[in-house]
Amino acid sequence: MAEQLVIAKLGEGPEIFYSIQGEGFSSGVPSVFVRLSGCNLQCVWCDTDYTWNFEGTPYVHQNDQRPGYRKFVRAEVQCRLRIEEAAEAIQGYPCRNVIFTGGEPLLQSKPLVELMTCLRTLNADFRFDFETNGTRLPEAAIESFAPRYNVSPKLANSGMPVEQRLKPEVLDWFAACPRATFKFVCQREEDVAEVRAFVGQAGVPAERVFLMPEATTRELLAERRGWLISKCLAHGFRYSDRLHVSVWGARRGV
Ligand code: SF4
Repeated sequence: MAEQLVIAKLGEGPEIFYSIQGEGFSSGVPSVFVRLSGCNLQCVWCDTDYTWNFEGTPYVHQNDQRPGYRKFVRAEVQCRLRIEEAAEAIQGYPCRNVIFTGGEPLLQSKPLVELMTCLRTLNADFRFDFETNGTRLPEAAIESFAPRYNVSPKLANSGMPVEQRLKPEVLDWFAACPRATFKFVCQREEDVAEVRAFVGQAGVPAERVFLMPEATTRELLAERRGWLISKCLAHGFRYSDRLHVSVWGARRGV
């Protein structure tokens, strides 16, 4: 059977949309986003919990405390798409920079290799970024497209056990890859000490490290931005805002 992508569903269609990148090294760059469904982690503050927190799963999310929050019905938030359908949707936008995000896109290497092959056949200018949690090594077939990696290893604030969220051999690989940058989601000033320990151990130069506030509202972003920028200045890290949150708040598909 031909490969299919498991994609987050937005309304009645797949979550493939055109916007500016809101975070990290290509912040502000017009891009087509493809949001894959499914993740091998379950971070308590995850802002795309509709990609994994399905009914019948035992996972915990900070929104569990929020009145009215309920786990997602898989059929309502996930769909399957043939490679040609995904390529057609992507090609319809006036942009050749494609960002695979999630969830964890590297869980779907095989169909994504097919999709990238299909897109490059249509137009050699297509280039690709992966947003990954840094727990999976990219396969050789993915590497053959020389994508950029926006690696976001998770800190203790994610609520995930360390042996699940940090895979030293994978992180060493990304640290050695010149096309990879690292982005850490920070909630508290203490998180920065954890980042510094990680970066020192992995030997990642500070200029390849972004610190980004954990925030899904403009108010929280504004509150955390100030102290986080001070920490970046103190330690030579790069600051990443969340442009899409500043502009559109917690909306999806933007
Ligand atoms: S790794 Fe990313 S997508 Fe997966 S649960 Fe954590 S924040 Fe969400």
